[in-house]
Amino acid sequence: MKKLHWFILIGSIVAILTSIGYVLFNYLNKEVSVREEKFYSNEAETIRNSVIAMIEEKEKSTLAIAVTMQNNYVLIDSFKSGIVPEERFKYIIKMLNEKTLYKNVWFQLIDKNGKSLYRSWTSNNYHITNREDIKLLLKKPEVQSGINVSAFTIYFKALVPIYDKDRQFLGIFEVITHFNSIARQFHKKGTHSIILADKRFKNILKYPYTNKFIDDYYVANFNADSYWIDYIKRNGVENYINITSYRIETDQMILTVPIKNSNETIGYYILIKPISNIKDASLSFFIFKFITLAGSLSAILMIIIIVLLWRRSEQRKYYYKHIIDASSNIILVLNKNNNLIDINRKFFDYFSDYKSLEEFKAEYKCIGDFFVKEDGLLQKFMDGKHWLEFLIEHPTKEYKAKIVYKDKEWYFKVHANSIFKSKNTHYVVILNDVTTLEKQRKKLEKASLTDPLTGIGNRRYFNIKLDNEIIRSKRYSVPLSIIMFDIDHFKKVNDEFGHDVGDSVLKELARIIKKNLRQIDIFCRVGGEEFMIILPETEEKNAYQISEKLRKIVESHSKESIPKVTISLGIAQFFKNDDKDNLLKRVDNALYKAKENGRNQSCIAK
Ligand code: GH3
Ligand code: MG
Ligand code: MG
Repeated sequence: MKKLHWFILIGSIVAILTSIGYVLFNYLNKEVSVREEKFYSNEAETIRNSVIAMIEEKEKSTLAIAVTMQNNYVLIDSFKSGIVPEERFKYIIKMLNEKTLYKNVWFQLIDKNGKSLYRSWTSNNYHITNREDIKLLLKKPEVQSGINVSAFTIYFKALVPIYDKDRQFLGIFEVITHFNSIARQFHKKGTHSIILADKRFKNILKYPYTNKFIDDYYVANFNADSYWIDYIKRNGVENYINITSYRIETDQMILTVPIKNSNETIGYYILIKPISNIKDASLSFFIFKFITLAGSLSAILMIIIIVLLWRRSEQRKYYYKHIIDASSNIILVLNKNNNLIDINRKFFDYFSDYKSLEEFKAEYKCIGDFFVKEDGLLQKFMDGKHWLEFLIEHPTKEYKAKIVYKDKEWYFKVHANSIFKSKNTHYVVILNDVTTLEKQRKKLEKASLTDPLTGIGNRRYFNIKLDNEIIRSKRYSVPLSIIMFDIDHFKKVNDEFGHDVGDSVLKELARIIKKNLRQIDIFCRVGGEEFMIILPETEEKNAYQISEKLRKIVESHSKESIPKVTISLGIAQFFKNDDKDNLLKRVDNALYKAKENGRNQSCIAK
């Protein structure tokens, strides 16, 4: 694949994954914020309800204390006698303080004339009350509870009328409690409380307990955190008392519950809860599930893409393997260490004992092991180099290799190319079978150098061989002789017996001469009935002996239907500073001399 295609493919995958990621991320974000909001509003509602419940509970339990005191004889006696045993009430307050959540409880006894007989928070008694609620209650005695704001604080009040055993109205018993216990309970769970009295009570609050205000709003609880008091002040207290559902600020959930007496709002309960304390297990699980799902989907997508790419590349491999296998040439792939790493099917048409590359490699390392060592052919090592390296270095020349395997021989034209340009390249070697052509060529070559009548070398062959032998003789300083011979009165044979018989004589003569020569001697017919013998490594003296031996064999040879003939022979040795023309001239002269001297004899050239 082209670089650009890869670029586009990978780019597309990245783009698709990014888009999917973006969509999923957006979805997750939206879904999480929807779920979060739902969860937060539920949580806010729960907190609000618990504040309302706790306020109501405190109000009712304050009333319960008052009601249980209604028939207390100490209380009744106090009203009757006008003398209050303070230590008895202080003991009850102490017990409540020690054993219950009521850390601040106050009692007040008011007689039927509105005179305060006892107030647990001060010794300044015996003054006439000016509280409207008490004045009303004195006129129409009944049990009453609610939330009030006094000169000191915002508080819970519970008022009960006291009667003697004759149902005579004696006065009113009042129990007062504060919000602190509620604030403390929230504080234990890590939630801050800021309990405010409405600003319209600013002037009533002459002796504020906590002495803390946010603008005109009195802060009623002792444990109100100064950081959050400042925070609310800074951001405008009105913004917080009006929160109807909830608000998330600086990782806190802030909500406000109005404090009401009957239907009148007299204060505000502000709660500040860190959202880290509001754990939504289902949301975490949802995110976990979502991320797992998205991760799995991405992984599956990636796997699909990889499988597709892999399949594609496998198909391409298969495709190219087919093309290579379809070739009528042997194709080999070698690595830079000359190790075979791939071969095509054609290879096994030749090396039929093997079914796979592995099988072949188990026995042979290099195909060069099969190259036959012959002149002009590619061999395993060329000029000391491995054949592959040699071929790569000589790209323009054409080399043939002869391979012999299992008594069969083939000729191949061998081409080698680097596949990559990098250092770590592979090589492809193509072996093109030229056996038929080569055999034909050899046949033609042989024919062009052979005499058709006698089957021995012709004049062309003689010239080539003589040139070679002269070079060899010169190079190695070895003797070289030649013999030239001619049939005596051959014309007569033709005349008497006919041309065909003449031909038979030539054939028979060639046969017996050849039979009596050494393997290394070269025997050629160079004219009609003229022959040459090249005798390598032979001096003229020995050549003469050979010549005479041949002459005598011919002279004494007889075969039915073939007339007897004799031959005359000239002998010449090749000497230093000699040349071919001169050698041939001298041997010709020697033969002429043999003829002149009466034929059927050998004559050595001068
Ligand atoms: P000499 O002893 O002097 O050699 O006498 P000669 O008759 O052999 O004379 P020469 O060598 O000059 O004659 C060559 C004769 O060889 C001529 C020709 O009739 C015959 N001849 C040449 N080539 C062939 C051939 O291919 N077949 C046959 N049958 N005869 C050939
Ligand atoms: Mg002749
Ligand atoms: Mg002759």
